[in-house]
Amino acid sequence: MSVLKTDQIAGLVDIPDDARIYFEHPEKQIQNHLTVRSSNGDILHAEVFVVYHNTSRGPAKGGIRMAPDVTLEETAELAELMTWKTALVQVPFGGGKSGIRVDPEKLDRVTKDSILREYVHLMKLDLIAGLYVPAPDMATGPRDMAIIFGETHMPESVTGKPPRIGGLPGRNEATGRGVATATRLACEELLGKDISNVTVAVQGFGNVGSHTASFLHGLGARVVAVSDIYGGIYAANGLNIADLMKSDNRKIQDRGGITRITNEELLATDVDVLIPAAAGHVLTRENASNVKASLIVEGANAPTDSEADEIFMEKNIPIVPDILANAGGVIASYVEWRKAKSGSLTEATETYEVIDRLIEKAFSRVKEIAMRKKASLRRAAWALAAAELVSTMQDRGWM
Ligand code: GLU
Repeated sequence: MSVLKTDQIAGLVDIPDDARIYFEHPEKQIQNHLTVRSSNGDILHAEVFVVYHNTSRGPAKGGIRMAPDVTLEETAELAELMTWKTALVQVPFGGGKSGIRVDPEKLDRVTKDSILREYVHLMKLDLIAGLYVPAPDMATGPRDMAIIFGETHMPESVTGKPPRIGGLPGRNEATGRGVATATRLACEELLGKDISNVTVAVQGFGNVGSHTASFLHGLGARVVAVSDIYGGIYAANGLNIADLMKSDNRKIQDRGGITRITNEELLATDVDVLIPAAAGHVLTRENASNVKASLIVEGANAPTDSEADEIFMEKNIPIVPDILANAGGVIASYVEWRKAKSGSLTEATETYEVIDRLIEKAFSRVKEIAMRKKASLRRAAWALAAAELVSTMQDRGWM
């Protein structure tokens, strides 16, 4: 079963029946085991999942997620989302993803590096051939991508590297940049409000959440609540995002003497915009009716369960879907990859310009079809992405 439901896009675009066979069957699924000696001498074992969903449009592209509960099914769901995301914003990549089942909180640097090196050994042929191009995802970042680069010695084999070794200025902030741009557009065009007049709650203060909050704060929005896995903080007059980002306290609740809230309370905060920007499947049948926001922007991948999606549709709460809202990361990855292949230089402002341009273009195409067909933004985005993928597969003689 694919994440994209073809029955939900029927009537929006014409998708040949056969296409569903491609949508529902990932091209490749690897399930493997890594065994390394950790820094304290213990033997550590981790399951590894790699899924290529569809590579008709280019190399499988997608991040490496480290989580204690990641599964093959979740990796496949995320790989499929990458297929739709790259198709929707029209960058020349296919959909892929890696999941390493390990608790990142329990890894010291040396052990994490060993795991990544083993991961490269497992994937080396594909990485060298450019069949799969990894990037950061939950619990991985630029330094981890530098380890991968250190093994392949090919700058185009991985994106999200630190700028000094061929990474892209602005790549680290890119997903947040795109989420902020999508939020600004949705506020203006769907709520009829300028971004400087809205209140926002952001779930998650990792790479996506913190930069999203920071860009939104910069645009004049009032970010009143943020959280991490341990809980959140709330300030009716707006939080000082720059100070929160500077603090090196591990838990967000230890970074400021402000009202403490739980993650469930954050999701139910009375704000204009709710941005889930952490884990997946946080908006469910149980809590969807508590949401008071007028707009949801999906910074995370797959934060909304399909039952919750239905509830939001009934409540007329628009959702800017993940494949549009958080595409800034992979757009920047595309710029980095292109730069690696050509040896050209890029500045952060240029990165942001490409992100804004591609997100704006995709947003207006999605909005147009959603309005014309009276469909949700998610279904409109799926329809455009599916049509793009089908056209590519037809070009390639796959159908
Ligand atoms: N992990 C990010 C995502 O889910 C970025 C993927 C990439 O740049 O390849 O979109």
